[in-house]
Amino acid sequence: MSSSELREYLQNYSGPEIRIMEVCGTHTHEIFRQGIRNFLSPKINLISGPGCPVCVTPVGYIDEAIYLALEKNVTITSFGDLVRVPGSNGSLQKARAQGGKVKVVYSPLDAEKYAKDHPEEQVVFLSVGFETTTPSDVIAVKNAIRDGIDNFAILTANKTMPGAYEAMASSTDAYLYPGHVHAITGTKVCEDLKERGVSGVIAGFTGEELLTALAITVRKFSEGEPFFVNAYPRVVTAEGSPAAVALVDKFTQPCDAEWRGIGVIPASGVELREEYAAYDARKKFNIPAQEGVYKTACRCGEVLQGKIKPTDCPLYGKACNPDHPVGACMVSDEGACSAFYMYGGNNL
Ligand code: SF4
Repeated sequence: MSSSELREYLQNYSGPEIRIMEVCGTHTHEIFRQGIRNFLSPKINLISGPGCPVCVTPVGYIDEAIYLALEKNVTITSFGDLVRVPGSNGSLQKARAQGGKVKVVYSPLDAEKYAKDHPEEQVVFLSVGFETTTPSDVIAVKNAIRDGIDNFAILTANKTMPGAYEAMASSTDAYLYPGHVHAITGTKVCEDLKERGVSGVIAGFTGEELLTALAITVRKFSEGEPFFVNAYPRVVTAEGSPAAVALVDKFTQPCDAEWRGIGVIPASGVELREEYAAYDARKKFNIPAQEGVYKTACRCGEVLQGKIKPTDCPLYGKACNPDHPVGACMVSDEGACSAFYMYGGNNL
């Protein structure tokens, strides 16, 4: 089908009402940017789930990073968005204003290089993200070992998607699976989910690829059986990237992980294995447990589970906006609240 035919199909869909959850920040952003929500049939409800790494990073994790910066005199290196995410008592941006050393980098490899060039500093990289980014975090540790660097460590909050798919299954009728995650993991996890009644379609990132994946999703849903389709075969294969999976397995092991606003999902994260404890900031600096207190009326957790739209949050567009984010979902361009705000979500 051409783009205009796909568009017409989705516009005129009159089958059973369906909730489709995208779990990828890039999908969230692209769906808004392409204006797809504006013409969908009212029977198709899109939910922006927990696919933005910044959005799901818990308060306690930010508190750990602030503890390192202010109490242990550690240089924190991080992607820029994370610096603005609120912890229990402010963000890393605030910690920087209080004298903490917080440096924005563009990759974990930059952070490792910074540590190499500054042997007088203890450097920690904030390692957040999903299957797509964890390999590069692990390579930074591998390089530090190769380079004999002992002033570099990572603070892990890396997540894995399969546990989240299962945990959130009651919030959606079908997932729009993230193409880049499954380029790493392959498709077996989706096949297994189908066997357990969880449906979804792997989607690419262009407008046509997203429309195709959505059209397949509503067509298959109308048939009434659990389904899985790989609608991004030019990139996603059944086996994924065995080399990347093996690399991550060598350095990390599964762990329970807290998702901001959602809670702890068993085995939905990874942490460094014991033999790499010297590069695990939590162990290296013996960070005390941080409870992480959610002090605001932010409703990110409900947004991420599709229970409310960002516009249902009383703070949306008032106390909370991209210049002054109250919650993590308003920080990153890929966050649901930020995307709603940027593309005029008040009308959706
Ligand atoms: S609008 Fe702001 S405060 Fe409300 S849920 Fe979104 S991020 Fe949280």
